[in-house]
Amino acid sequence: MGQCIRRRLKQMQLRRRNITKTFDVKNEVMPRYLDLLNSGELHKRSVALAEKLRECTLCPRECKVNRTKDEHGFCRSGLLPVVASYCAHHGEEPVLSGTRGSGTIFFGYCNLSCVFCQNHQISQPVRSLRDNETSFERLAEIMLELQAGGCHNINFVSPSHCSAQMVRAIEIAASKGLNIPIVYNSNGYDSVETLKLLDGIIDIYLPDIKYGNDNTAFRYSKCTDYVSHSMNAILEMKRQAGDLVIDEHGIAKKGLIIRHLVLPNDLSDSEVSFRFISEEVGRQTFISAMSQYFPAHKAHKHPLLSRSIRESEYEKVLGWLEKYGLDNGWVQDYSSRDYYCPDFERDRPFAVE
Ligand code: SF4
Repeated sequence: MGQCIRRRLKQMQLRRRNITKTFDVKNEVMPRYLDLLNSGELHKRSVALAEKLRECTLCPRECKVNRTKDEHGFCRSGLLPVVASYCAHHGEEPVLSGTRGSGTIFFGYCNLSCVFCQNHQISQPVRSLRDNETSFERLAEIMLELQAGGCHNINFVSPSHCSAQMVRAIEIAASKGLNIPIVYNSNGYDSVETLKLLDGIIDIYLPDIKYGNDNTAFRYSKCTDYVSHSMNAILEMKRQAGDLVIDEHGIAKKGLIIRHLVLPNDLSDSEVSFRFISEEVGRQTFISAMSQYFPAHKAHKHPLLSRSIRESEYEKVLGWLEKYGLDNGWVQDYSSRDYYCPDFERDRPFAVE
């Protein structure tokens, strides 16, 4: 694996400025999946999601392969989930990381194929990740370990292709005492039908909105219909979880946060995404604008993606946030691009040597 020159930098925590003006504070919000566990509904959802694996339609690609027999579709995932890494992550948004970290569980593989993926070691690995296949019981144990370690939440990264496996493990963990919020940290390419089965199980939705143009999404992520699917998914997430609720300690308990990674040459079409959020999701929506792009993975083969973003490009995007009245959330400092370079070949992918 190539060495990243940014690893020499001394600080890894992503620097984020809070731009929030108003937010809802609640003292006591219990995860809703506990009610579903007690009523038996959580088990029914788990069974319904597992059924979708027989002709896989978990995500909008609808490959219709039988994953219960380990057939692989676009995402290359079989029946058992691949857990590439897990840790208490201190570099997420402050309402997620808090003081004790966000209990982050990284699934291997992905239903997108971004040429610039900053997690490409685990999302599009050159060798198989089958050795990291994990039983549902072990995945539940990992959640309980992270909770016992004090993490504020369980944060599933890239769950879209593993949502059935995730829910089965949540059911096991909840029956053994899991009681912290679940974060669904996805690339935004989610099926509304699948999301409906997650209603009441997920406390905090944390989707990306990556592109505002399908031609760009196809060129760089092999996805012909990203824009409409991501927008419909975000509307469904908002319907389920509502606006962000933060407790008296500054920790998120439920709601929606939308992440937007700014690409060079405005390839992310940021204004399209911000207009959609402002007009259809709501101006009070929490946004996390990210400047951390650097040309990872195969990005150097694509001239328009082969550099970091310029400060002037970033300022323009932040101006669109203001233009559309989106003043809740966080913006990374421009210099954050110098600090972000995870290495999933280490036990602690976000540590700095
Ligand atoms: S989850 Fe994987 S196999 Fe299923 S539809 Fe999506 S890409 Fe295809």
